[in-house]
Amino acid sequence: MAAATRAKGSTNGKDMQREVLRLSRELIRIPSVTRNEHKIAEFIFGRLDMWGLKPRFVEVKDFGPSVLAEMGPTDAPSIVLNGHIDTVEVMSGWKHNPFGASTDKGMLYGLGALDMKCGLAELMLAFKAISEIGLPGKSRVVLQAVSGEEVSSAGTRAMMAKGGFRKARVAIVGEGFGGTGCLTIGRRGGSYFDVDIKGKAAHGSTPEEGVNAIADAASIVEALGKMRMRRDPRLVAEDGKPLRETQTVLKISGGSDSFTVPEACRLKVVRCTIPGHDEGVGEQIREAIRSCKPKSRVETTLIKGAAELFEPYVTTPRSDLVQTASRWIRHFTGKEPMHVIGKSEADDNRISHDLGLPVVCYGPGEGGALAKYHQPEEAVSVDQLGTAANVYVMTAIELMSRP
Ligand SMILES: [Zn+2]
Repeated sequence: MAAATRAKGSTNGKDMQREVLRLSRELIRIPSVTRNEHKIAEFIFGRLDMWGLKPRFVEVKDFGPSVLAEMGPTDAPSIVLNGHIDTVEVMSGWKHNPFGASTDKGMLYGLGALDMKCGLAELMLAFKAISEIGLPGKSRVVLQAVSGEEVSSAGTRAMMAKGGFRKARVAIVGEGFGGTGCLTIGRRGGSYFDVDIKGKAAHGSTPEEGVNAIADAASIVEALGKMRMRRDPRLVAEDGKPLRETQTVLKISGGSDSFTVPEACRLKVVRCTIPGHDEGVGEQIREAIRSCKPKSRVETTLIKGAAELFEPYVTTPRSDLVQTASRWIRHFTGKEPMHVIGKSEADDNRISHDLGLPVVCYGPGEGGALAKYHQPEEAVSVDQLGTAANVYVMTAIELMSRP
């Protein structure tokens, strides 16, 4: 494989690490809380343009734009490199400046350091490196820097609608849960349910004449908390433990300030589903509710919006994508990567489910106590920067070299 040999010769690990660190810092210094991605999108566009990589904006309703760049003949099959450009809001508890991008004891601090500006820098620099090496044969590489991920995958959904995934063979997302020793080959899903509890109003002084929807809701919440969650010992979560389902009551609303027995109450419940076990959840919930014999009439409905229903997925470890990426991770880290299933839902759930594409996530990240995703003092160890970019370059080139 001539291209790979050339790339190996030209990719100096330390140089790549320095470049990724420099670009990550520039990205962290531009605030890009979700729905406010305009400035960072302009920066990314400008940088890709400066590198001669012909970026274009892709508008995303209610968010800043995403940025798309492609190289290779328009009708060739493509490999997609996808990363999101938005972050969550600044939360309390920061000691370092969340937009300062300072390094301290080997850690780079900043909002989005893990989620996922360093991963984004790796993807951008990998795309640049591939353009310098040149594409093998008739193939195409697509870089997608998407907005709106933290809310509803809006940017990735807009990419799907506007041709960003045209003729895509595989996708690599640059989120590195667990760090560069982990390859995320799947994710749990999320099924959201409304539980509507309809009681009967009565004067508050004669509760025996009504049916109190809130009282029934209380026993239902308790019953939901006692439900048995399934686990799959063949699948490993990012913390190294067997993957299991979880269920959480997210919201409860009902009742009024007047002296009336509450006639209605609504719960919002999420089941984080695991691959192969996402069927029949609604029926299990209904059964648990029946078992607490509520006096109210109860209806459980699966919420089917684009932002609500995430189906779990696994990309098979035997696939070309997982095998090739794993081999290059082993090459650049010296260790066998752990194949994990991410606990949280994300853009790759959509890519796998809506498009049926093989997809993996890989990038700089942290596990254990250092995994401060969506937390103050988010930081990434500088040591691991540069590895992911090299893995993307070699994986993409190897996959593209095959017919
Ligand atoms: Zn993220």
